[in-house]
Amino acid sequence: MKDPIKEAASIIRESKYLVALTGAGISVESGIPAFRGSQGLWDKYDPFEYAHISSFYNNPKKVWSMLRELYRISLNAKPNPAHYALSRLEEMGFLKAIITQNVDGLHQRAGSKRVIEFHGSGETLTCLDCRKKYKIYDVDINVPLPKCSCGGVLKPDIVFFGEMIPPEALDESMNLARCADVFMVVGTSAQVYPAAGLPIMAKERGARIIEINLELTQLTSSITDVFLQGRAGEILPLLVGEILKGNRSKVDNS
Ligand code: NAD
Ligand code: ZN
Repeated sequence: MKDPIKEAASIIRESKYLVALTGAGISVESGIPAFRGSQGLWDKYDPFEYAHISSFYNNPKKVWSMLRELYRISLNAKPNPAHYALSRLEEMGFLKAIITQNVDGLHQRAGSKRVIEFHGSGETLTCLDCRKKYKIYDVDINVPLPKCSCGGVLKPDIVFFGEMIPPEALDESMNLARCADVFMVVGTSAQVYPAAGLPIMAKERGARIIEINLELTQLTSSITDVFLQGRAGEILPLLVGEILKGNRSKVDNS
């Protein structure tokens, strides 16, 4: 059987429009816990309870106790080799865009240019009363309930369960899924919709699906063409190395 990394590399080398969808798993090696498949933060806070918009409206102070802990981790986190490998793939001209479900800003910090934040961003916050926007670095998150100068409660601009996906991000992502001839899915359990529908949409339009995850997901046996099992921070740099090798041998042979 062909080495799956070599197989994925050759699919990417021949691709015309590669798009990546990333999830919390890509940031685990940066120290940010994912919802599923990891312990720690989410043993303490049930994500479906704390990340639901109704919980935020009913008891913002309680939800801020989880947000504060998450911010303390993510504001100090650095991109890992998986983020850098995707940035390199864009630079090499293969990767056209990243659709990320993450709110940690690590793709941009790794140098990726076209990043669609499907679930919003933790880097800005909005006042629930006057809609004034704040940058996270201008907000004191150490108080029990961060507030606007008008006294209103501040909510991070991340999409909570029960909230709409920002319409522009949804439109752009659906267009990308339709255009992609290769769609790479990295570190997502593919259980949160509509994000999990994007690779299915791409497959229906004929795209090949490359999946990178520690564990099998519902996509693996249904639509995935090449499954690369392991840590994204190890697999993605190997994949980029393999693509570069192929490019060199193309030059050598010409
Ligand atoms: P998830 O938590 O449901 O699943 C994470 C997936 O990543 C699992 O399938 C797991 O097997 C895999 N994984 C774990 N470590 C990995 C590694 N080193 N390499 C490759 N794969 C690895 O994540 P999700 O599907 O993105 O859905 C969770 C939702 O929570 C998303 O909407 C996301 O916005 C949000 N979230 C974001 C962050 C962040 O911004 N970093 C962190 C936690 C949750
Ligand atoms: Zn306000």
